[in-house]
Amino acid sequence: MNQAIPAVEQHYHIQDLIDKQTKRSEDREYHRERVKRIEERDQVLRDSKSHVLTDFWCDKCKEDFKSTAYRQVEVDWTNSAQRIAFYKTKCWNGHWCIRQITDKHKDAFYTKSKLVRLDQGNHYADTVQPYETGFNLLYGKKDYANIK
Ligand SMILES: [Zn+2]
Repeated sequence: MNQAIPAVEQHYHIQDLIDKQTKRSEDREYHRERVKRIEERDQVLRDSKSHVLTDFWCDKCKEDFKSTAYRQVEVDWTNSAQRIAFYKTKCWNGHWCIRQITDKHKDAFYTKSKLVRLDQGNHYADTVQPYETGFNLLYGKKDYANIK
């Protein structure tokens, strides 16, 4: 009898234990990341002003304008543990316009505003943030979620 002895990891119930262990540690890692992201969002929210005078872009009028706005906070319906914060105001023609607080990469101002486009190639190149216009042009498209 010359039967090869399988490595201990190949034994089905050992492999099963290893798989369960791996899954548990992945779940823990996932949970930690999720908690961290929620804490970061909450920090951004806490650091934001409840009332601002800032630049807005109206996508209907295709115009930039300045306005005061109050912060609004809503539950993220795609993830009830998260909150979404933004500033909301109306342009001179009564269209609702939004500046994102917690989800800056979704802020249309950075991709559409004429002010921002005029600024491209000037100081925006030095201070550009992942969510700001010009970043993709300068550094290529990135996965926003992985940028700290
Ligand atoms: Zn408008």
